[in-house]
Amino acid sequence: IKGNGRNGFAFFDTSMAAEADERHRLEIDFRAGLARGEFELHYQPIVEAGTRRLVGREALIRWNHPDEGLIAPDRFIAMAEDTGLVGALGEWILQTACAEAATWPDDATVAVNISPVQFRKTNLLDVIMCALVDSGLPPERLEIEITERVLLEWEADHVSTLHQLKNLGVSIALDDFGTGYSSLSYLTTFPFDKLKIDRCFTRDLLARDGCGAIVCAIVNLGRSLDMVTVAEGVETETQLRLLRAAGVDQVQGYLVGRPAPATALVAAPAPGAAP
Ligand code: C2E
Ligand code: CA
Ligand code: CA
Ligand code: CA
Repeated sequence: IKGNGRNGFAFFDTSMAAEADERHRLEIDFRAGLARGEFELHYQPIVEAGTRRLVGREALIRWNHPDEGLIAPDRFIAMAEDTGLVGALGEWILQTACAEAATWPDDATVAVNISPVQFRKTNLLDVIMCALVDSGLPPERLEIEITERVLLEWEADHVSTLHQLKNLGVSIALDDFGTGYSSLSYLTTFPFDKLKIDRCFTRDLLARDGCGAIVCAIVNLGRSLDMVTVAEGVETETQLRLLRAAGVDQVQGYLVGRPAPATALVAAPAPGAAP
């Protein structure tokens, strides 16, 4: 449709209506999917940079849609946040991740992504404690990942929630570090154990001047604040070598292992796992 003048507005209205329609269908589908158990968690290994020894796995949500097949989180997390459904989804994720991790043949940690909306709008502490009690997973084996988006609108309550979690033994990682707008002072306000260096720095390690310098700076920052550093999105041996040289503690990426269903994990342990 070519839009000009009044037609231009008509086109605009139609496409907005179509988008709202699509959103609405997605929401209805999503509610049904939750009720029908169409969601599943895939797990991606996180290993020591030097030895490739398995230390943990990140849980990544997938929607096994009856018509559309496997749907990635980028297509439904925002909708789930806007509609508040992320509360129910997030609870299911925590319950499932803890229950599945409790059956793993190793004692790797399980890292669970927490949406900023879930963080602000639900009683995260209660939900996490229930998941731990129900599964019997030791709190030391649970790690939560939050992004800088949480920090942008933080209140004293949020800091206290994180401290309580930490006192329980749960560890806290700052996800996608280096991409947001948060001031570095947040790093001492919040009790982070780990900095996850965003994939863009790994990707540009060779391509862009100065990226190696940024990774080194983050590693030094992490060291002086007593935080572990993890590089995301490691796809090549060269990247791994450079990250190791920069002093990154842990790595995660397709080179080491792709996200896979829990069933695959039990059948074939991740590379680096103890034989
Ligand atoms: P994230 O937390 O930064 O997760 C890492 C993403 O990078 C995952 O995409 C993972 O599959 C992908 N990835 C891992 N290694 C590589 C690599 O070597 N190369 C490339 N190109 N990509 C790699 P995924 O699973 O599609 O998740 C996208 C985002 O959706 C996540 O980013 C996270 O923000 C969100 N998400 C995923 N699962 C959950 C969840 O359970 N709860 C919440 N609240 N958000 C989730
Ligand atoms: Ca993450
Ligand atoms: Ca990330
Ligand atoms: Ca990301």
